[in-house]
Amino acid sequence: MISVVEPATAAVMAEVPRAGADDVDAAVERAKGAFPAWRAVEPAERSAILRRLADAVEERLEDLAVLEARNAGKPIGDARGEMGMVVETFRYYAGAPERLLGDTIPVSGGIDMTFREPLGVVGLIVPWNFPLVIAAWKLGPALAAGNTVVLKPAELTPLTALELEKIAATVLPEGVLNVVAGPGSVCGSRLVEHPDVAKVAFTGSTEVGRGIARQAADTIKRVTLELGGKSANIVFADADLEAAAAAAPMSVFGNAGQDCCARSRILVQRDAMDRFTELLDAAVREVRVGDPLDETTQMGPLISAAHREEVASFVPEGAPVATRGTAPEGDGFWYPPTVLAPVGQHDRAAVEEIFGPVVCVIAFDDEVDAVAKANDTIYGLSGSVWTRDGAKALRVARAVDTGVLSVNSNTSVRVSTPFGGFKQSGVGRELGPHALDHYTEVKNVYFAT
Ligand code: NAD
Repeated sequence: MISVVEPATAAVMAEVPRAGADDVDAAVERAKGAFPAWRAVEPAERSAILRRLADAVEERLEDLAVLEARNAGKPIGDARGEMGMVVETFRYYAGAPERLLGDTIPVSGGIDMTFREPLGVVGLIVPWNFPLVIAAWKLGPALAAGNTVVLKPAELTPLTALELEKIAATVLPEGVLNVVAGPGSVCGSRLVEHPDVAKVAFTGSTEVGRGIARQAADTIKRVTLELGGKSANIVFADADLEAAAAAAPMSVFGNAGQDCCARSRILVQRDAMDRFTELLDAAVREVRVGDPLDETTQMGPLISAAHREEVASFVPEGAPVATRGTAPEGDGFWYPPTVLAPVGQHDRAAVEEIFGPVVCVIAFDDEVDAVAKANDTIYGLSGSVWTRDGAKALRVARAVDTGVLSVNSNTSVRVSTPFGGFKQSGVGRELGPHALDHYTEVKNVYFAT
């Protein structure tokens, strides 16, 4: 059995069966069996089924949100937002089956046309930080394109995926969506090596992603990888400093910093450093850390005791702590929002993904220096640019090597726009129209006339 722990109390909240490699094989078999009929469902009918799936999740939105808030330790308001995004994602991709367009290409002697064919059985491996919503980003386009799926949630947070499997059973044909909750090294690995799995879509750490890419090579499996980040929040001296400082804390302390898009390096132009840090200090002290089920909570605990230890290792005795917020005492894996400054560009905390509520503030001189510092990382997932100079904002947004950039805002993710990383933050894109490319193969057919 898997003992599922509630991070806010450190108590076991549920026991669920621990799947093994045999369970993965059985799930792949079911998905393989369901594939021919699912791919043959008429496009308009597949759309209707996906809309019914969205409706069925929406009906359960509140209890799914409470389950996610408790299991992942995230504020209930955030959890509701995520469940809303699950619904929105299924509705968005419900529009896709009738829009999987091909091309006709002028050739001599006949007609040439392309089709977007489904891949077959797709393995989806997701992390514990945004359990159900990241699963939905993969499920929506995978199912819309006519694939069947085996979803493996993280061992720490399997509960909402298991609920989704039950909900889906009332709407989808048998075998189309299968969930296996078990260890990554066993169940995840089996999905990656399985000869009947055509593609693996993975979200998780860069380290595990590297291993999956290596293992997938044996069967030339398609892979989408959404990995780690160390994103820069670039604040120029001509920015609305009040707005930038007010928004900065939740752009890195949201989800207790356990967010691949966390703006965990705040790069501030030297002339504005004093004023910005004064504003940031006040904003960080206001972050409300506490019980995830309290409606006023902005930040919950970390996911586990082991993860808290890892996060704390970035703030050793003598670390340059500029501001430390508050956090509850006692049971639960609490850690206060922490600002480190001054931090050198190559200090460990400025280089590695911390995945906790710890942010580094680093000074830069000018536009060239800002871009160089932002890009001085193996990662390239997201980032922000704050300035009142529109041309500079666009120049910097184009020059920063990341997949998702925002200007005078810290948002990264929308259902209708592509999301994914440059460099070692990943391969492929999720969400928006682009995700469908990663769940289909292009077939070219020549018809001699
Ligand atoms: P993780 O890599 O430890 O685990 C992710 C998933 O992979 C889990 O389901 C796990 O069981 C499974 N897994 C572990 N070992 C495996 C193996 N050998 N073969 C196959 N599957 C295996 O990551 P995590 O700790 O759950 O999540 C945190 C990481 O996820 C962070 O690095 C974060 O940046 C990243 N993340 C990225 C995005 C993104 O979209 N880029 C989003 C969220 C999280």
